[in-house]
Amino acid sequence: MFEHPDYQGHETVLFGHDPESGLRAVIAIHNSARGPGLGGLRMRDYASEHEALADVLRLSRGMSYKNAMAGLPHGGGKAVILGDPETLRTPSLMRAMGRLVESLGGRYITAQDSGVRVEDLRQLAQTTAHVTGLKASRGPDGEERTGDPSPATAVGVYHGIRACLEAVFGSGDPAGRSIAIQGVGSVGLRLAQALHAAGARLLVADIHAGRAQDAADRFGAEVLPVASIHAAQVDVFAPCALGGAINGDTIDGLRARIVAGAANNQLARPEFGAALRNAGILYAPDYVINAGGVIDVAAQLGNYRPQQVHARVVAIADTLRTIFREATSNGLQPEQVADRLAEQRMRQPSA
Ligand code: NAD
Repeated sequence: MFEHPDYQGHETVLFGHDPESGLRAVIAIHNSARGPGLGGLRMRDYASEHEALADVLRLSRGMSYKNAMAGLPHGGGKAVILGDPETLRTPSLMRAMGRLVESLGGRYITAQDSGVRVEDLRQLAQTTAHVTGLKASRGPDGEERTGDPSPATAVGVYHGIRACLEAVFGSGDPAGRSIAIQGVGSVGLRLAQALHAAGARLLVADIHAGRAQDAADRFGAEVLPVASIHAAQVDVFAPCALGGAINGDTIDGLRARIVAGAANNQLARPEFGAALRNAGILYAPDYVINAGGVIDVAAQLGNYRPQQVHARVVAIADTLRTIFREATSNGLQPEQVADRLAEQRMRQPSA
């Protein structure tokens, strides 16, 4: 276990089994120096237990970096339930998961992730107090937010893209800029809406053809094939689908000056960061630019003030500006600067 390639200094890994409801779950807490581990609960039909363990360990470590960079008083944690959400999701399973979360006495706070709906979290909340992302709140844009972190994530990515444009072109104004969005789901579609309103020219691709067409109808976006969206001749390529968008098959085809999007783990391997820099492409570290959602759900643990939360999400752009400046002056890649800053913060308790 301790030799597992993804273990990497985890504080706690808890395996839970509840035969009555069929629950099989793992909770991982990577680092809690800044505060209780905060990160979503994912439910997925993993190919193997090994795959589930690797997933939860990588994700909880990623949350330590994301939460530290977002300045949150939280460490990194994550939980997974093993099983197909479509067939295994039951109220009793969620209540059993809640008991497992509760057994950690607040050292891990859970929230929504893929395969888990707000209704599931409500069941889970019957047996634990350590859950967030359930409150209905209204953002400064007037949009109601019930647990779904994607509106806040999209706001952060939009402002992050502006910081990238500023660094590369001297102006952060998206008007007249061309932006290729890979995946127009919960985050990508909202991002498209904001960029369109700001006057950007959009190109989109989605494996669900209807979603891409929707973006075309609503925002005048040009629909591109899924296989070639990464190679569009644009100012910004915004990965908003799955992880690993920058990989051995796509890296040589990139024509954008900037890679900045919502997806987690955009670099399939760390060395692709150097390849981007060598190609003169500015990369916005994924866990920095996509932290809007966790900033929002963390705020729901206290007295939720929409304007304050919005300001914190917009400030992701300032963090990126700092990272880009340091990268330039120290000859580093942006993700290297981000990792260093996050690791520094992870060693210090938050104020
Ligand atoms: P989503 O499932 O709502 O949207 C993803 C979209 O990508 C879907 O429309 C899907 O059809 C499409 N897609 C999948 N594979 C594709 C491919 N190969 N090419 C083109 N399109 C493809 O997910 P989301 O909530 O919008 O999240 C998008 C990404 O951002 C994910 O990687 C997620 O982990 C990450 N993220 C999301 C949030 C959030 O608040 N939702 C926060 C941080 C990070």
